[in-house]
Amino acid sequence: MDYELKGKHAIVTGGSRGIGRATVLALAQQGAMISTCYVRDSDDVGTLAEELEQMGSDKLIARCDVTKTGEVDRLVEQAHRRFGPVDLLVNNAGVISHLPLEKLGPEEWQRVLDTNLTGMYNTIRKSLSVFAPTASVVNITSAVANHGMPAASHYVASKAAVMGLTRALCKELGPRGIRVNAIASGLIDTDQMNAVNAEGRARYNQMISVGRIGRPEEVAQAVLFLASGAASYITGATLNVDGGI
Ligand code: NDP
Repeated sequence: MDYELKGKHAIVTGGSRGIGRATVLALAQQGAMISTCYVRDSDDVGTLAEELEQMGSDKLIARCDVTKTGEVDRLVEQAHRRFGPVDLLVNNAGVISHLPLEKLGPEEWQRVLDTNLTGMYNTIRKSLSVFAPTASVVNITSAVANHGMPAASHYVASKAAVMGLTRALCKELGPRGIRVNAIASGLIDTDQMNAVNAEGRARYNQMISVGRIGRPEEVAQAVLFLASGAASYITGATLNVDGGI
């Protein structure tokens, strides 16, 4: 499907693995120019660069911790210098953490909030001065923001806050022509699922209406739609991409 994103400039945070990587590749497939980041040096970064190279995609892949304002500022400035105004910002970088409240210390609480929520504030705020006239933002949140989940109050709180951030910024940035949406992702087969054993996976498959855990590419397709002209009247929305969990 052609989403008419050819030549558009997209920034995707956390593009080295999982949903972010699938999103980068889907956007590259559409002919978009890609700026993306990761936080740890790994083989994934090299293989992503190779894949994009093979696709003939224009790309900037940089190390940037989204929790650090200075690093985000540098990434956005570099991306803008290289590819011009930003048509799409995909706030995907995030961390999962499983701890019951009595074991959840202030440092871990802060790490998760800083990455999953403040990281988005950092990227959107910095991008304000470089957004194209009809830019859009897609924030990746989670189905658990609606349903809740035990032993993850920090994660769930961060993801619920992303929905609030999305609705607030839709109102604030709409008059400037910028749409802000979110995707509430269900269980997707990425490294975040590594801790789940076969028994746990079977239980999840039973809970999900379509009977299986999702693929990163299925979230990426929803990003393409929200970024495209086909979604021109959609803003402030959270789209469930969760197989009907
Ligand atoms: P992965 O763990 O597979 O990948 C996370 C990505 O985020 C990596 O590229 C990682 O970079 C990057 N990242 C993590 N912390 C930072 C940071 N501080 N600065 C910059 N980049 C960072 O996760 P998923 O693909 O599964 O998740 C992507 C998003 O989707 C997250 O926001 C997650 O909460 C959300 N989500 C995922 C679900 C799932 O079932 N998988 C369900 C619901 C929501 P590096 O490789 O350098 O570590």
